[in-house]
Amino acid sequence: MEMKQVIVTGGAGYIGSHTVVELHNAGFTPVILDNFINSDADVLKGIEEIIGYPPSFFEVDCTSIIQLREAFEKITAQGVVEGIIHFAAFKAVGESTEQPLKYYQNNLGSTTAILQVMQEHSIKNFVFSSSCTVYGQPNVIPVDESAPILEAESPYGFTKQACERMIMDVNGSAQPLNAILLRYFNPIGAHPSAAIGELPIGHPNNLIPYLTQAVAELREPLTVFGADYDTPDGTCIRDYIHVIDLANAHVAGLHWLSSQTEACEVFNLGTGNGTSVLEIIEAFERANGIAVPYKLGSRRPGDVTAIYADVTKAKNLLDWSCQFTIEDALRDAWRWQQKLGAA
Ligand code: NAD
Ligand code: UDP
Repeated sequence: MEMKQVIVTGGAGYIGSHTVVELHNAGFTPVILDNFINSDADVLKGIEEIIGYPPSFFEVDCTSIIQLREAFEKITAQGVVEGIIHFAAFKAVGESTEQPLKYYQNNLGSTTAILQVMQEHSIKNFVFSSSCTVYGQPNVIPVDESAPILEAESPYGFTKQACERMIMDVNGSAQPLNAILLRYFNPIGAHPSAAIGELPIGHPNNLIPYLTQAVAELREPLTVFGADYDTPDGTCIRDYIHVIDLANAHVAGLHWLSSQTEACEVFNLGTGNGTSVLEIIEAFERANGIAVPYKLGSRRPGDVTAIYADVTKAKNLLDWSCQFTIEDALRDAWRWQQKLGAA
């Protein structure tokens, strides 16, 4: 049978590594491009533990056209490339405000370079990692893909908007792409084997890595950022999706792209359900039978009150839906933390 390679930039990262596993499970041959700027070579061993062989890997800085060309020459010589999934980017909102150029250089630079080299090799299918941050606080929730894009609140958010625009412009050009822009809500959890998961570097800003570290007594109790919002329990509402469900949406997206020619479609990827911070704490305690140490604190600047996805479009067009519950995700997150804690 013909090998169907899929190039995965940032494939050693959190969402990328889980997607590599699901691509393998679906019969694709994933090829990872990463420079470990926010990950670790051990992730490749974790992937190998799950899929049973070392994944194909090229150490490449995706902002370097020269390095990308070298890798693409080798990859295309090995066989057909079905598509590219472009995860490689920096993602810390706060850091992007402190070091905007770092974000513009890496996030815009890697997307520009990848698109250029992709065109040189006439590879058509392109999957881009975007974010629900492009919506800001939407007027209507659940939010669907027709909601307006708001002025970005951070350089990180702006890089996602700019890359989306870049892909749309290329799609409208003389050499169009076949692309999907995936707006992720809040990915959480880890592979149930605990062989791969999220590697928070330094002080975690996101809720779940902080929560699991607090439960593991590696950090002070969790501070709930604001309990006076206009929500049923006063805490912010988000759409938390198991990272494996998110990974599987990329596989579904590639299948859909293979039936298209010059698509450029945006999809929300979430569960369609909103969960408050206090509900997350309760769900974690239910799933794991352990108390979460926490205190109520003041609001975090820049947080939107409530956002969750309308995922009708992804369900209908991609024939995809979530398989895991929030308890599954929190059980897997804790299992992963226990492994990290023990390391
Ligand atoms: P991550 O930091 O775990 O993974 C990103 C990977 O890309 C890392 O392995 C890093 O080493 C690599 N990388 C970064 N710049 C590179 C470069 N120039 N060349 C080669 N490799 C490079 O992040 P993640 O959580 O897996 O996020 C993946 C994508 O999804 C990012 O584009 C991110 O902006 C987007 N996203 C993430 C979330 C989230 O909550 N995690 C939400 C919305 C969107
Ligand atoms: N949050 C919190 N305490 C923390 C980290 C996050 O209460 O230590 C809250 C945060 O205010 C938000 C939700 O958890 O309402 C999700 O935050 P996260 O940073 O994980 O994602 P995002 O803000 O990108 O949705």
